[in-house]
Amino acid sequence: MRKEFLPFCRPSITESDIAAVGDVLRSGWITTGPKVQELERMVAVRTGAKEAIAATSGTALMHLALTALGIGRGDEVIGPSMTWVSTPNMVELMGARNVFVDVDRETQLVSSEAIDAAITPRTRLVIPVHYAGAPCDLDAIRAVCRRRGVPILEDAAHAIGTQYKGREIGGEDTAIFSLHPIKNITSGEGGVLTTNDEALASRIRRLRFHGLAVDANDRKQQGRSPQSEVEEPGYKQNMPDMNAVLAVRQLPRLDSFIARREQIASAYKKRLAEIEGILPLADPPWPHRHARHLVVVRVDERASGIDRLAFTEGLKERNIGTGIHFLAAHTQRWYREQRPEWMGRLPNTEWNSARICTLPCFPDMTDDDVTSVVDAIKDTISQARTRVPGGRNARAGVTAP
Ligand SMILES: *Cc1c(COP(=O)(O)O)cnc(C)c1O
Repeated sequence: MRKEFLPFCRPSITESDIAAVGDVLRSGWITTGPKVQELERMVAVRTGAKEAIAATSGTALMHLALTALGIGRGDEVIGPSMTWVSTPNMVELMGARNVFVDVDRETQLVSSEAIDAAITPRTRLVIPVHYAGAPCDLDAIRAVCRRRGVPILEDAAHAIGTQYKGREIGGEDTAIFSLHPIKNITSGEGGVLTTNDEALASRIRRLRFHGLAVDANDRKQQGRSPQSEVEEPGYKQNMPDMNAVLAVRQLPRLDSFIARREQIASAYKKRLAEIEGILPLADPPWPHRHARHLVVVRVDERASGIDRLAFTEGLKERNIGTGIHFLAAHTQRWYREQRPEWMGRLPNTEWNSARICTLPCFPDMTDDDVTSVVDAIKDTISQARTRVPGGRNARAGVTAP
């Protein structure tokens, strides 16, 4: 058994990253300034988008984008329930309704067919999620949305560096990336929105900082001109330079991070293939580059002899951390109580929600770390099978639909 705890994720921070943050702190300018501008430029260049806007989090950008798009009471927003709750929460806080669509059971991605079937005259927006760093079938989704006249806002929180048919995510529709510490690159906390819609971009920039007028000139200078006035009441969600500098340092390393993640993910895939009932996700069939943000398996109790709770507890006892991405939003308390109509209507989402487990995967993991996870999985399962007669694990806690 390994001696030290292995978390399921750890950001790659070098001594020179730390020094760069120190330089910003010593510079006399620590809030939004040249480092944010540099980050925005770099993300725009990388994705091919005209505009990139940094803010305090992906969630903040979701809020700003929904506000700028005028989403409100009586509106419906289509997206998966298999996502981080921040997106459905922002939709509810705008006074709009989530219309959840089921995901594919093997990829956890939403399909154009499911979206098409969910569109009503009240639909104002579709939010596909590039789950775990695999892209949705954007050509098919765009075709449906164009035909039905509904805009797309991509939740690309997992997908910085993901490519769909050779094109970088974020270059076409409006997309939101997260720079939270567990994501593929980080600014501590933060997010970046990309878009080619310049009117939308300037409204989001304004809403990001008190609703003050922002012109092109402001973006070339530190801060804003002291004369700028409120054009509409706005929020306060600008990213500080001391955060931005970290992502400025990390973005050039993104491809090497993904290459290492790819090695780890394929080692898991090969070595877990022989274990019955530990089911990897499938990669989507369209051409893509997977960002390998999360390595997710489904713990199928019937085949493995162990339920997810016993599995994750067993790994924890063996010093291996795991995550759950995600407990489906509609199964969580507020949604269960306030939006009960969704229970039972999303069978693939519910099946996965009860079984998924995220295994450790981050660029600084060693091959020995991967081996220790695989050994711990084998050990946990064989112990569970011998402990309970018939090979079934009787521990309660997770109710599978
Ligand atoms: C992390 C995440 C978000 C939110 O990003 P934050 O920067 O943490 O606010 C949104 N959607 C998904 C799918 C995520 O994983």
